[in-house]
Amino acid sequence: MTEYSIGLDLGGTNLRAAAIDREGKMLHLVTGRTQYSEGRDAIMTDMVEAITTVRDRQGATGLAGIGVVVPGFISLEEGVVRNCNNIPSLEDFPIRDQLSQRLNAAVILENDANAAALGEKWIGAGRDVNDLVLLTLGTGIGGGIICDGKMVRGFMGMAGELGHITVVPNGLPCGCGNRGCLEKHASATAISAMARLLGYGDATAKQVHERAVAGDERAREIFASMGESLGIALAMLVNAFNAPLYLLSGGVIGAWDFFAPAMLAEARRRSFSFRTTNTRVEKAKLGGEAGLFGAAYLPWAK
Ligand SMILES: [Zn+2]
Repeated sequence: MTEYSIGLDLGGTNLRAAAIDREGKMLHLVTGRTQYSEGRDAIMTDMVEAITTVRDRQGATGLAGIGVVVPGFISLEEGVVRNCNNIPSLEDFPIRDQLSQRLNAAVILENDANAAALGEKWIGAGRDVNDLVLLTLGTGIGGGIICDGKMVRGFMGMAGELGHITVVPNGLPCGCGNRGCLEKHASATAISAMARLLGYGDATAKQVHERAVAGDERAREIFASMGESLGIALAMLVNAFNAPLYLLSGGVIGAWDFFAPAMLAEARRRSFSFRTTNTRVEKAKLGGEAGLFGAAYLPWAK
């Protein structure tokens, strides 16, 4: 009998559930679209069905547990999402307990970026270290912190909201109520917004990257500005945690060569410990899979 765990990652556009064994081998994967427009009940039913399909296939014996990963601020104690821009219908709803009841099994709920950090620590870029900080650069910016091999959750489970640390004191207003949050200045959305200001119309971060590759100076400046904001955040994180490894993930890291020089220069300028130690800043390895693997690892991480 193979011991396995079920992870479910409720992403922005799709939902994936997988059976993964203790060594990190994926045994079975179910994917589906996330039907946000259909409302909460449809999303809940999709999640229950995906997990049930995987469990029926693998058999209930050997199942170590079920981990579910969703975006947003999560109150771990209550098992609810407090703030979730992508899926407002799930806010303040007892997701964990409802899933648990319908599946007749315990469910562990976690934030997507925290889970991604856990996934990278387990079988990704962070397997050789005990401390790491992960930033996921996407529509917003998520963060996950692993300290001494364990996820840092904070007293309510809201630690690691690194996209909302201030990098521009009176910068752009953010949905969280603050101004100048990292995610307003360094996410894929921020890159599009900067491009719009420079007259590029509705260019995606990927299109801005293509322009930078083609030699467009203004496009390159956008990435330099994004790198600067990331560097400010990085310096703070290095000063706070002195972790040996900082990982970046998300589609935007394809533009690494355009933002990394400004990011590393800024971090060097602002952090003594970054300047004087062998602190690594690298691309995460698991890409979009990190959250799913992290979700599956949750029952073993307890
Ligand atoms: Zn914010």
